[in-house]
Parts: sequence; C-alpha cells; structure tokens
Amino acid sequence: MTLTVILPKVLAFLEKQHGLYIQGQWKESSGSDRLTVFDPATGASISSVPDASLLDVNQAVQSAKQSFDSGIWRGLTPCARERVLLRLADLIERDAEILAQLETLEQGKSITLSRILEAGGAQNWIRYVAGLSTKLTGKSMDVSIPLPPGARYTSFTRKEPVGVVAGIVPWNFPLLISVWKILPALAAGCSVVAKPSETTPLTLLYLAQLATEAGVPDGVFNVVTGRGTSAGEALVRHPDIAKVSFTGSTPVGKRIAEICGARLARVSLELGGKNPALVLADADVDQVVSGLALAGFLNQGQVCAACSRVYIEAPLFDKVAAGLAAAIGSMRIGPGLDEATQINPVVSAAHQAKINAYQQTALEKGAEIVWGQDVPENGGYYVRPALVLNPNDSLPLAREEVFGPVMTLTRVRNAEEGLAHANDSRFGLAASVWTTGLQSAIDLPTRLQAGTVWVNSHVMIDPNLPFGGLKDSGLGRDFGTDWLDAFTETKSICIRY
Ligand code: NAD
Repeated sequence: MTLTVILPKVLAFLEKQHGLYIQGQWKESSGSDRLTVFDPATGASISSVPDASLLDVNQAVQSAKQSFDSGIWRGLTPCARERVLLRLADLIERDAEILAQLETLEQGKSITLSRILEAGGAQNWIRYVAGLSTKLTGKSMDVSIPLPPGARYTSFTRKEPVGVVAGIVPWNFPLLISVWKILPALAAGCSVVAKPSETTPLTLLYLAQLATEAGVPDGVFNVVTGRGTSAGEALVRHPDIAKVSFTGSTPVGKRIAEICGARLARVSLELGGKNPALVLADADVDQVVSGLALAGFLNQGQVCAACSRVYIEAPLFDKVAAGLAAAIGSMRIGPGLDEATQINPVVSAAHQAKINAYQQTALEKGAEIVWGQDVPENGGYYVRPALVLNPNDSLPLAREEVFGPVMTLTRVRNAEEGLAHANDSRFGLAASVWTTGLQSAIDLPTRLQAGTVWVNSHVMIDPNLPFGGLKDSGLGRDFGTDWLDAFTETKSICIRY
C-alpha cells in the first residue's frame, strides 16, 4: 500500500466551518442545518457544509443579479475576461494537489484520477473555454427582401450574455463538471450561482475562492450548498435565473425541464446513459479488453459515458469475456489514496446499496456473474466489480443506469443484431464500435443512436468535441467552439441609413 500523505492545507480546509460563498466572501447560512461530508473509503465524517435555506438562495441570486446588472464582469473586454480565467487555471495548477486530495477524500475516486482528470482536466477545460471569450462573434447581413428605391439598411447580430446562470453539479466528477457548468457562463459574461451535490461540495467551494483570487469580481461567482430538492429547486424556480445548466440524473433533469419550461427559462441538460459497445469479429482483442476495462470500471463505473453494455460478435465472445474477466480480477481494491489500487469506494452508502441491490436481483434471477476481487469490510462504500454474461434484456441491471462497476457482455450473431440491441434503450449518450474494418468504422457510428460515438476507443472526452445526449440522455451540447452560444442570446440590430 502506498498511501498519499494528506497535506496540512487539505486538513485545514476539511476542518473549516464552511459557509456559503456569496459576494466574494464566506457567509453564514440564515439557517442552522448542515450537511455532513463523508469519506467513502471509511464512512467517517470529514467535514460539513450549510444546507442553504430559501433566504440564502435568494441572497446568492441577488448578488449575482446585481453583479450582472452593474456590468462589472460582462462589461469587461473579452480579452480581460479571458486573462482572469487563464489566471484561474494557473491557480488550479498551483493548488492541484490540494484539489486532488479533497476530491479523493469527498468522492472516493483514485488519487491518480483526481490528479489527472479532476485537477488536470479542470485546467485543460478552463484554458480552452477562456479562449472562447474572444471568439464570440455575430454576423453581418444584407436585406434579403425587395426595398423601395433609396432605402438602405444594414444589419448585424451580436451575442450577448443570457444573464444569471444556475450551474447544478453532480457528484461523480465534482470539480471537472463544476468547470463545465460554470466556466462557459463566465467566459460569455454571465454571472453564476452554482450548487454542488450535497455529497461532494468541497472542491466547488475551493474553486470559488480561487476565482476571487484570480480576479473574478465579487458577486459574479456564488456558491450555495444544500439539498437538491430544497436549495437546488429554489434556484431553478428563481425568476432571476435566466438559464439553468444542469448535469445529473434523468429524473431530476426532467423535473428541471418542466420548471424551466413553465417560466421559459433557458436550460441545458446533460443526463444519464446506458452506453453500449459493439465489438465486431475483426476487432483487435487486446485493444478491446484494455479499452473496455477502462471504459467500464474507471471511477467505479460512475461516469456518465461509461460503457455498461457490450455486444460481441460470436467468434470473439469467449476471448473478450476471458480478457475482461482477467482484467477485473487483477484490479486491486482499496482506498483512493492508495496509488496501487484500481477500484475504490463508490460515492455514498446509499449508492453502494443501490448497486448491490441491482447485483442481488441479477443473482436471484440466475444471471451468470464473473466477480472481481473481494472488497474490504471496514465501513467503506466498496462494491465488488462484476461482469454479467448474456443477461436477459429485461433484467433491470441490463436496461437501467446502474452507475457502478458492472458491465454486461452479450454474444450476438452479427453487427446488425448488436446494433439493434444497442439502440434498444431510452438513453442515447455515448457508444463505441470496435473493428479493424473501414466500412464498419464509418457506417456503424452513423446508425448508433448516441450523441458521441468512438471507434476503437471509449470515454475519450475532449473540450473541442461537442458532448451531449439524445433521447433521455439530455438536451443541448457542452464543449466545442460553439459552447458559449448556450450562454448567450442573439440580438439582431438593423440600421437604416
Ligand atoms: P442527481 O440528479 O441526483 O443530482 C445532480 C444535482 O442536482 C445535485 O447537485 C443535486 O443536489 C441536484 N438536484 C437534485 N434534485 C434537484 C431538484 N429537484 N432541483 C434542482 N436540483 C436538484 O444526480 P447525481 O446522482 O448527483 O449524479 C449522477 C447522475 O449524473 C447520473 O445519472 C449520471 O449519468 C449523470 N451525469 C451525466 C453527465 C453528462 O454529461 N451527461 C455527466 C456526469 C453525470
């Protein structure tokens, strides 16, 4: 075991009596309720944050609205905003180890993943989106209809920030997804009220204080911690929230869409997935096994784009199944702070119970399961990794988003049968095709019902590539060169001269 030594600054942050982050400073909540933060590796309480009241939410939105109306941020030149956001990325680089350790302590994931994907990813995405501040452009156009002689008009469009944005964040990548929800809004000139998951609030609070240090003006970036059903919903219902940028589960996303629909607030939804892989008989087995072991078990499968269903053409089924069984059998299970482990606790006791219940039902229905190593029994939220072979399609574990270290492997006669299975889902977030054939590599991605399709890879997520879901997996796209469009309104200006 090679346990990472926890930094004194991390211990100090855990011990701090956290408040809400409003108007560039820590504020006491108007209520006294607090939410406990647990270490998933032990089940011990490690910190707490306020459970924000309605009054707190109103205060945070008011602070954001005032900063927006004053023009203190949106009125800056785009390159001035870009410079502040680049400074924020540098501060994350400076404090990367603190952020990575906080992430592992509150979320459970491997410290290596926290370093690379959370602290490292946050820097990459911020540097990408900061550059978009200066690329927001409208168009100029001539009049397209007949005009009386002598009438002269010229028209152009501008992209203007939409207003105050609510960024609502889930628990699986708390720092990275906070960046995805908040930074494009800031780059576009919006002010923000962000809400982390009640389970993993710490790194977003840390990010907010870094934003102030980087030069984001007071009131532009506010954080309320609290329950989704109270603080989260109050935020979504608030008439001064012009746009909700949400990442989370499909049921909550649908509820938010209803509330936003009723008051015509803008909304983007990045929701759940049940992401398939199609493995063709001509695929490179070693590439399939290493790629899918990562895609299914990274972060204990708590990845929206994780591969959880694999359809394998018959000639390759036994080889791929044996390779994946060996891969999960070799994954060492332990606390995220132990760099020698590959499987770590899931985020909470409730989530552990939910995944265990899916596995139990599968067992009771007679499913054939290949298990990974035994889990430690020390009060930590560990779940044993599992491969479920040729499950009945009606098994809940085969159809619903488990969001855990569980993957189904199904033998299919040919690619068409695999494709039919893959598309037979209410989700449509991501998928992959594994083949050495040029024709399949080009044809199958166009026929898969998913927002992103990888070939000979899975979970390769890049800020330059738009990401989002079809069907129950969401509405709108994050990332890409047009990312800021979702945080702007297009204004048309027509001038007679
Ligand atoms: P969740 O929907 O339970 O919670 C997400 C956030 O919404 C939390 O901050 C929560 O407090 C808040 N919330 C809950 N109820 C609310 C309400 N009524 N009004 C406003 N806010 C509310 O999701 P989770 O369990 O934290 O995260 C896991 C889910 O997120 C999975 O379904 C996963 O697929 C999805 N996810 C999707 C993507 C993507 O890009 N598509 C990325 C990561 C996670």
